[in-house]
Amino acid sequence: MSKEYKIGVIRGDGIGPEIVKEAVKVLDAVSAKYDFSLKYTDIDMGGCSIDKYGVPLTEEAVETAKAMDAVLMGSIGGDAKTSPWYKLEPQKRPEAGILGIRKALNLFANLRPAMLYEELKNACPLKEETADKGFDLIIVRELTGGLYFGERSTKAIDGIETAVDTLSYNENEIRRAAIKAFDIAMKRRKAVTLVDKANVLDSSRLWRKVTEEVSKDYPEVAFDVMLVDNCAMQLVKDPAQFDVVLTENMFGDILSDEAAIITGSIGMLPSASLNDTKFGLYEPSGGSAPDIAGKNIANPIATILSAGMMLRYSLDQDKAADAIEDAVKKVLKEGCRTGDIMSDGCKKVNTDEMGDLIVKCLA
Ligand code: NAD
Repeated sequence: MSKEYKIGVIRGDGIGPEIVKEAVKVLDAVSAKYDFSLKYTDIDMGGCSIDKYGVPLTEEAVETAKAMDAVLMGSIGGDAKTSPWYKLEPQKRPEAGILGIRKALNLFANLRPAMLYEELKNACPLKEETADKGFDLIIVRELTGGLYFGERSTKAIDGIETAVDTLSYNENEIRRAAIKAFDIAMKRRKAVTLVDKANVLDSSRLWRKVTEEVSKDYPEVAFDVMLVDNCAMQLVKDPAQFDVVLTENMFGDILSDEAAIITGSIGMLPSASLNDTKFGLYEPSGGSAPDIAGKNIANPIATILSAGMMLRYSLDQDKAADAIEDAVKKVLKEGCRTGDIMSDGCKKVNTDEMGDLIVKCLA
């Protein structure tokens, strides 16, 4: 009997429902080909949950998500200037839903792949010879510790206003993130670079010690370390050298945006947030794009690739994940583009046409 997985689906706001529809279309086609099935359960989150229940995330939504093998999400939120959701207090706004679900599901590892597609090379802001080499890397960012979650205060000390933020990690928080990075490397080109500031920070020195220990359990994976300031330069100079980049919360926040922009096409970038089981929440890197919502012109590829990551990292359906990634490459090679990645000589297609073309190209 073929395996069945339970998938939570957060369609969300803005372009969310349109792009998720295409990802589900692709998932249905690929699961039929690779002999497994997906049972979907809709989960309300964000603005649509505020409209229905007065809060961006209900207890029931969290419980439903917890019972799933994985959750696929579109995007949440509206136009901050015009939407009534932004007249609410901060913890009742759409974005509080995503922070709430990450916390409730203990999603401590954030995965942000950055890949340069041969066909979209022209959009890459790097030097031509660098873009010609291409790159395909993934940043594994610790998401629930470090500076953003440490104690903070602002007070006058001897009459001088002083602000303090605390960067703290314990070995368990580091170990579980490192294990994720090495597990991911085993499914890729088998190389992990730990990025830190170990020449200055005690917390970074603990990251090195613990990650080195973890690396011993993965003899097939090449392990290397790099200082964060050097990494910021290397991402621009020679991104092809990286496979999996492992780093703490704040460094990861900054480096993952740098890695995104060098691809030149944010509408193509998937992401995932994982906990210490196989469970993950998968979503495109972009937002709900209220300016183009409901027009059937949004690019669904980042969401379709997020669905591919879900198959790879939560369901271990690697062949089906490969098929999705190959189909996306094929459609780009054929010259089909949504408006955001359109260039001269290509054929412009709508959101649903792009989904249909990717289904057609599934091997
Ligand atoms: P955005 O990513 O939604 O939009 C920025 C620009 O990129 C817009 O011009 C938009 O049209 C375009 N764009 C984004 N995704 C696209 C796609 N798939 N295809 C084609 N074009 C696309 O960022 P924003 O305008 O800063 O935020 C809008 C809303 O999204 C806000 O409410 C914000 O809080 C929310 N947001 C949600 C998430 C999430 O759900 N995780 C992430 C980021 C922003």
